[in-house]
Amino acid sequence: MTLITRAGASFLVLALATVTYAAPAPETPPPAAPLPDAVGLTKVSARLAPVDLTVDVGALPAGERAALTELLAAAKMMDGLFLRQAWAGNDTALFELMRDRSPLGQARLRAFIQNKGPWLRLDGDRPFLPGVGPKPPQANFYPAGATKAEVETWMHALPAPARTSAEGFFTTIRRAPDGKLQAIPYSVDYQGELELVAARLREAARLTQQPTLRAFLEARAAAFLSNDYYASDVAWMKLDANIEPTIGPYETYEDGWFGFKAAFEAFICVRDDAETAKLTKLATELQDIENNLPIDAKLRNPKLGAAAPIRVVNQLLGAGDANKTVSTAAFNLPNDERIIKAVGSKRTMLKNVQRAKFDKVLIPISKIALAPRDRAAVSFDAFFTHILMHELMHGLGPHETAGGKSMTVRAALQQSYGALEEAKADIAGLFALQFLIDKGVLDRALEKSVYVTFLASSFRTLRFGGDAHAVGMAVQLNALLDAGAVRIAKDGTFSVDASKIKEAVRALTAEIMNVQSAGDGAKAAELLRVRGVIRPEVKAVLERLTKVPIDIEPRFVTAEKLLQERRAP
Ligand code: ZN
Repeated sequence: MTLITRAGASFLVLALATVTYAAPAPETPPPAAPLPDAVGLTKVSARLAPVDLTVDVGALPAGERAALTELLAAAKMMDGLFLRQAWAGNDTALFELMRDRSPLGQARLRAFIQNKGPWLRLDGDRPFLPGVGPKPPQANFYPAGATKAEVETWMHALPAPARTSAEGFFTTIRRAPDGKLQAIPYSVDYQGELELVAARLREAARLTQQPTLRAFLEARAAAFLSNDYYASDVAWMKLDANIEPTIGPYETYEDGWFGFKAAFEAFICVRDDAETAKLTKLATELQDIENNLPIDAKLRNPKLGAAAPIRVVNQLLGAGDANKTVSTAAFNLPNDERIIKAVGSKRTMLKNVQRAKFDKVLIPISKIALAPRDRAAVSFDAFFTHILMHELMHGLGPHETAGGKSMTVRAALQQSYGALEEAKADIAGLFALQFLIDKGVLDRALEKSVYVTFLASSFRTLRFGGDAHAVGMAVQLNALLDAGAVRIAKDGTFSVDASKIKEAVRALTAEIMNVQSAGDGAKAAELLRVRGVIRPEVKAVLERLTKVPIDIEPRFVTAEKLLQERRAP
């Protein structure tokens, strides 16, 4: 309840500061399907388990703490900006919901805040407010009355520089008074809010003593006003500070027409130095792991390139696109190909978010899906270390096909590539952890935990349905079942057979890497067709998990505390 009040209050300020009105009535009438009632909607929202997200900021000097607090204030403004981007009617709808004190009004307000709009994102965008109609796929990036064909025809007819701008990440398409379409830079369309955000970033830059952080904040403040984000993205890649802010327009999923337009979001985090040290240790072992992969020696890479940087952080606040329904546990940015070519991209792992998911989702899953004797071995350390290893293992193994005409594995395997590559990173991650345990780099006590935790986690991944990670996970679980390395008891619970798991992991790692190296698209497709399926025994477990939360609903308590201190005289 307090979450709703606090988040609602911050939205209210933004709703009042923004002059946007509901979109014109949609051309098609709203569907006749009944809207969920208060009880039904409360049940739907409860699939995200509330959890306090805390971060220890005690070690930060006063100046850095003050800079962090300014960043939190800037980040909060991403919520209002994202609401405007997602749907033109959001501000009005939210304002009305906040005045509705009835149980139905309160249930709708919570659902609205979770979904950042009046459609249930986890349920095929089913509406839960009357009169809103189906979710417009073009969001509020294009004129409400325009059709996709009209916008596309207009874009294609533009001369080169104007077309690049119209199709770019950082413009909206609006209609001029004469009815013609035009591209408006974000710096103009969202000028009022972005000036306020930029002022906060400049104040944070003034407060911090960390040069790379100051450089990023000044560059990003300038980008919000100039609409040129290049220099600030480069500065973000060079960031080496105990405060890790990510703030701006990034992902393009909200643009359901073309995937062109970037949605505003923020992740305000502090670096986890202990985990970063652990990661550095694991990274130094990569060449040795590669040299010992269970594949033909000539398929191994004798000289691995530099791995993409990975940061382990704890999140204080997520806002805008980064704070709706399923919480982001890791992200890889930037998306701009020009930056990736010039300076690469960075993977950020949100450790406290993963901890919350572990506590609220993985532990309850393990209590239902695993045999009683395996449950106690499920551990967060094993869960998180395997996720780190998964990310690192994407860089190992064959990336080019062997033999005559060499090509990338991605090009050779085409639509089978994604699921197989995810399966490889998972299973080779287990192989690598065992290798490091045997080598004495990691504690022997981790051994049992690693496999049992992975087994519990496989059900978590399978619940998300048909994406590359879920199909890849089905391949692994079925292979381990076929090898007798995972067993199913009469009561339907799953367990690890310690005598068989190591060899099964080794064999599957070899099998997948050999298919990748051969570039055999037909064999890859066949492997996914046969093993990338949910078998009845697995389906039976998934059906028993319906009461377990799908994900978490974070309460950003440390962020709220810091912001309250800022407001106090
Ligand atoms: Zn992956």
